[in-house]
Order: sequence, then structure tokens, then C-alpha cells
Amino acid sequence: MSGPTNRGRSAARLRSSLRGAETLGHVGDDEFAVVSEHMPNMQAVTERAEQLRQALKAPLLLGTKEIHVSASMGIARYPADGDDVSALFSRADIAMHEAKKKGAGQWALYERGLYARQRQMFEMEGGLRKALDATEFVPYYQPKVDVATGRIVGAEALLRWKHPEQGLVAPAEFIPILEDTGLIVPVGTWLLNTVCAQQAHWRKDGISIVPVAVNCAVAQLQNDGVLGVVQDALAAHALDPRMLELEITESVLMQAPERVAALIAQLRVMGVDTAIDDFGTGYSSLAYLKRLPASALKIDRAFIKDLPNDAEDIAITKAVLLLARELGLRVVAEGVETAEQLEFLRSHGCDAYQGYFCSRPVPADEFASLLRKQDRLISMS
Ligand code: C2E
Ligand code: CA
Ligand code: CA
Repeated sequence: MSGPTNRGRSAARLRSSLRGAETLGHVGDDEFAVVSEHMPNMQAVTERAEQLRQALKAPLLLGTKEIHVSASMGIARYPADGDDVSALFSRADIAMHEAKKKGAGQWALYERGLYARQRQMFEMEGGLRKALDATEFVPYYQPKVDVATGRIVGAEALLRWKHPEQGLVAPAEFIPILEDTGLIVPVGTWLLNTVCAQQAHWRKDGISIVPVAVNCAVAQLQNDGVLGVVQDALAAHALDPRMLELEITESVLMQAPERVAALIAQLRVMGVDTAIDDFGTGYSSLAYLKRLPASALKIDRAFIKDLPNDAEDIAITKAVLLLARELGLRVVAEGVETAEQLEFLRSHGCDAYQGYFCSRPVPADEFASLLRKQDRLISMS
């Protein structure tokens, strides 16, 4: 266990919550070990962990002041996880690190493979720390297509990591680590600048550019820093603010509704539109949405996947389209892969879509070719 600043008091608290067949030891600076005997099954283990967690959670009294301490707990079982003291200790320690990752005051069980996973994450983190300077990140661009006309009306910039050994790494593998380590803030700043520079470059090449959306993580919104970053990136490349958009997921939005709403309003004043991403997966209230100065909703791919066959997905998609119309928001459907999905969206008045049906996310030069081709077609018609 680790965490408590008030070691003695926490030890006393732990001691007083022990049961008959338990032993408490002070094993390191702010680390304690509890040995619990006679645990009949897993349920007993997890229940006991939860009881200890609750016991430690209650505030301690320091004079008249209440202080809160929290402890992260890692659990290893004898003999399944090790049959000697040092193996059990090291595995409990590995589990404790896993608990810490979940946040303050959590517990975790040792599992086989946990150490290998932790090492892998650790190595990836090391690689990610160098990736920005080594220019190993690259944005791919996925077209947003107007459902009615089939024209490319925008794009989403999606981050890729060109790993020196592993090749192209997908964001699902590394974005969570960038977020955990706070690296997402400098990487996000870099991406906003790169996208603005790219847009300016395309414009100089005579391409009719379209708005490009950048995904925004919660850490980027924390101190409103993103406003200055957006402003600077636009100014540095003399880019029309309408050529940049932000995407904020519904779940990020709900972590700080008032602040994000204010931020979206300020972006709008600057001329930068915001879309609510993965819509339908978070739990935003209708009252909140009504006041939100966003310009578009993106329906999550989970609801598009089984269209036009799944009755629930049909109902949800129709409801989102109706709601958006009432609120004056555009709707972009994500993950459209088939003509049938597209036809369903067209007949229900969806504005735009993204998906493999039109194009996967592609490198900048391929996206530029798509825009050039479109320019030629338009000039011929
Ligand atoms: P997202 O913002 O929901 O992006 C859409 C994801 O769906 C992309 O995955 C895209 O490649 C994928 N996709 C698009 N069309 C289709 C389709 O027709 N079928 C299928 N199966 N998938 C489709 P990707 O590029 O792997 O990105 C995953 C997630 O990583 C993104 O989800 C976003 O949340 C995050 N991400 C990517 N780039 C950034 C970034 O620069 N910053 C932040 N904060 N997050 C990012
Ligand atoms: Ca997105
Ligand atoms: Ca999405």
C-alpha cells in the first residue's frame, strides 16, 4: 500500500480495521502489507479489499482539521500468484501499480501477464516521449462527404505514429498513453499547427481547401490553453478560421459541461466550429445540448454499423437526426461502409458521412489528390 502522508495515523486506522486472522506490517516508506489468512474464495478477497478501502477512506482528524488520505492496494494470492514471500511481495507491488493507474484509493488483483503489459506500456511511453522530436507522428485525413451531393465537404485529421520498428501504430494503442502522461497536450498543439500549415500549403497549391477537424482531448481543454494554441496556429498560417474545426467527444464534454460550453462559445466567436463526437455514447442531457453552441453532432459508428437492419439503431439514428434538426445542428454519420447504410442516411436527411465507403483515412498527399480530382470534376461540369 502506498499514498498516506500521515503514516502513523493510517497505520493505526489499518490496525484497528484488522480481523483475527490478519497481520499488518510496515514494509517500506509509505507502504504497508496486510496478510489475510483463510480466504475461501475470490469474492471474499475482493470484499475484504473493498472493506479496507472504505476504512481508509474515512477522514482522519488532525486536531480540529479533517484530512483525507487514500491508499492504492495491490493484491497477490497464495499459492496461485506465488509460493514464497518475495514472489508474493513483488506481485502485490505490480498489482499496486495497476491500482494506481485507476486513480486514487483503488485496488487491483495481480493477474498473469500484468508485468509484461506494464513493461510494454512503459517502453511505449519512452518511445512516445521521443516521437514528437523525432517527427514520428503524422496526421492522416479522412474525407467528410456531403450525403446529398457526394462532394467532399471536410476532413478529420487522425493521428498515426510511425514507429521506427513497429511501423504505423493506430491511435487506440497510443492515445490513452499520451493522455495518461499529459503528452497529449504538446502533441495536440503540434497537430493543430501541422494541420493549419498543411491547409495553407494546399491553398498555395491552388487546391479548394475544406474545413479539417482535429480531435481534442480533455487535457487540452483544462486550462483553456487550446484557445491560444488555435489562435496562434491560425495566425501563423494566415488561415481562415472556418477551415479549422474541433471535435470534442460527448464523454469529455460531460466531464466539465459548463467550462466546455464556454470554450465552444469562445471558439465560435473566433470563427472555429465544434462538433460533438461519438454522440450517443455519453449521457448529455437535452437541456444542456440546447444551450451548447456546437455546430454539428457526429453519430457514433456503433449506431451506424448495423443499419439498416437493427431496429434499435434505426430508432436511435432517426432520433438523433430529428433532435439535431430541432437544435439547428448538422449531423455527420461515422463509419459508413455500405451503400445501404448511406441510402438509409440519405432518406432520413443526414448531412454528411465519413467511412470506408468513400475512403479510409489517407496520408496528406492522397487527400490532396482527392480534392484535386474533385476540383477538376467541378470545373468540367
Ligand atoms: P474517432 O474520433 O471516433 O475517429 C473515427 C475512427 O473511426 C478512426 O479511427 C477512423 O479511422 C475510424 N473509421 C472511420 N471510418 C470507418 C469505417 O468505415 N469503418 C471502421 N471500422 N472504422 C472507421 P482511428 O483513426 O483508429 O482513431 C481512433 C480514435 O483515436 C479516434 O476516434 C479518436 O478518438 C482518437 N484519435 C485519433 N487521432 C486523435 C488525435 O489527434 N487526438 C485525440 N485526442 N484523439 C485522436
Ligand atoms: Ca473524431
Ligand atoms: Ca467518433
